[in-house]
Amino acid sequence: MKRQVSAAILATFVAGTALVTGQTKVTAPNNRYSPAEDVKLGREAAAEVEKEMPLLNDSRVDGYVERVGARLVQNIPAEFRHNGFRYTFDVVNLREINAFALPGGPMYAHRGMLEQAKTEGEIAGVLAHEISHVALRHGTAQASAAQPYAIGQIGSAILGAIIGGRTGEIVSGVGQAGFGVAFLRYSREYEKQADILGAQIMARSGYDPRDMASMFRTIEREGGGRAPEFLSNHPNPGDRAEYITREAQALRVQNPVRNTQEFASVQARLDQMPPAPTTEQAVRGATAGNEGARRAPEGTSGRPGARVEAPASGTVTYNEGDVFRITVPANWRELAQQGSVTFAPEGGYGADSGSSVFTHGVQAGIARIEGSLEDATRQLISGLSQSNPQLASTGNSTRTTIDGRPALRTQLSNVSDATGDRERIMLFTTQMQDGSLFYLVGVSPDGEWGRYQPVINRVATSLRFLR
Ligand SMILES: [Zn+2]
Repeated sequence: MKRQVSAAILATFVAGTALVTGQTKVTAPNNRYSPAEDVKLGREAAAEVEKEMPLLNDSRVDGYVERVGARLVQNIPAEFRHNGFRYTFDVVNLREINAFALPGGPMYAHRGMLEQAKTEGEIAGVLAHEISHVALRHGTAQASAAQPYAIGQIGSAILGAIIGGRTGEIVSGVGQAGFGVAFLRYSREYEKQADILGAQIMARSGYDPRDMASMFRTIEREGGGRAPEFLSNHPNPGDRAEYITREAQALRVQNPVRNTQEFASVQARLDQMPPAPTTEQAVRGATAGNEGARRAPEGTSGRPGARVEAPASGTVTYNEGDVFRITVPANWRELAQQGSVTFAPEGGYGADSGSSVFTHGVQAGIARIEGSLEDATRQLISGLSQSNPQLASTGNSTRTTIDGRPALRTQLSNVSDATGDRERIMLFTTQMQDGSLFYLVGVSPDGEWGRYQPVINRVATSLRFLR
């Protein structure tokens, strides 16, 4: 997925200042949240993760990861310790090389990461990197910078970001492509900070930071054709291996821990278990069984045959913070999410793996994508097609205006993952004053497009920007 994080978003920096010891100084970014809020948000998201993700629950494997993690946690520099943060480590039974951490400390390592690591130092490298995101409070710092108008349901935004797009409809695609700044998708600046602080924590714990660089190389090779999930959440700032190696040289670790007996026996133990499913297999399995039904909130099926009331002729106008005003049919509900808002009729939306799904209605949001309107729109569509492989453009974009601003209107078609039906999409895009991309996506099943298209056009016409 090609997307760029605008430099304007973040006032973070990775100082190149060397201390006497030669260590790079790391400064935590500004944050509008309190550490207690990190703890609360992380705990809520962890409860969701533990409901939705297949934890391995093997005490020997978990115990091992906890011990490696605890050793690193003890070596977090004092200035990055926060009251109430509790670092916990669980193993998720999934095949991809991945790991993620939630604000306040809950941390999850994919089994694939443990299996593919060549040394204990490599596992420690991934954990130290994740611990650094938590200690620097990058999740909430990013949310502080990103959040355009509503905090919304941060828990589900986190989960959507973890689980990724394919089960979602167009909406989750938009949410994720657009908000490169969702909770777990870190900017390159934050990545570099987590690499540097992670290297320092590793060295203080007796590991060689170069093992972190080596694990990143393995992850980069893993993807083959498509980018591994880890890299979409942790983009390579560029000369990663180079600056980690430089930092390692400055830190001078004597006799680093590389391989341990326990590492070897844990890998042997994993080897004897039935292979871990890929994320896609796990998600499809869950969706096919009762799990899927359990997840979808009542009355929000979006399944074939679901009855969806036609758009009411009466309307309701909503002010979305100080960002925009929008008028929609009176029987559409407002569903706020992190960074976007969806308006959809009863039965026309639902939730899937924590991502919102809608089959009828509109979603509006702001994506931080740089470039001209044409380029930014193309990037948004290309991001969408990553999570919606059947998404196709049905013609060129045409010029129009929204609230007097130059805009593009693009028609797309897709096959809904939720229903298997062909659906039509109208995408409107225009640029905000700060250069970010505003989008409005309208969708309906192919057969109902005649009824929905004029409604979607009216909603687009109703938009008024408040800044
Ligand atoms: Zn990262």
